Amino acid sequence: MSSPCIFCQIVNGKIPAEKIYEDNNTLAFLDINPLCRGHVLVIPKKHYENIFDLPSKELINLIATAQKIAQMIKKNLGATGINLLHASGKDAQQSVFHFHIHVVPRYPNDGLNTWPSSRYQEKDLRKVKKALCQ
Ligand code: 5GP
Ligand code: ZN
Repeated sequence: MSSPCIFCQIVNGKIPAEKIYEDNNTLAFLDINPLCRGHVLVIPKKHYENIFDLPSKELINLIATAQKIAQMIKKNLGATGINLLHASGKDAQQSVFHFHIHVVPRYPNDGLNTWPSSRYQEKDLRKVKKALCQ
């Protein structure tokens, strides 16, 4: 890591955050620029950059924490749905290079739109499967 990581600084208390939950391995806090009210970030306390260097046992801890947060959001903020979002890599629009899962509350008619979808030609579908599974 060349420059100080902002999320490591939140873990060690050097910069403030509205912490929602923590345990030995994970920390959850409010996103400073939320997609909507109650948008939470779940991070490992140890620094990992993305999905490619994160050990799977850390991911299990993170998903369990994300589920706890989702339940809190549903119960206490009245959300009727949740999106779990994650970005690995700058081309996936990752902007903070310390692994994190976004827990995004959804409410009726909240105006947050889903991503566009496309359609495969039949032969392309098979080609992509072949490329992916080699
Ligand atoms: P990404 O774009 O990497 O998927 O998400 C990074 C998230 O971190 C963004 O939603 C951004 O608002 C949030 N964020 C960036 N800096 C800070 C900060 O200093 N404090 C908090 N609480 N959130 C931050
Ligand atoms: Zn970090």
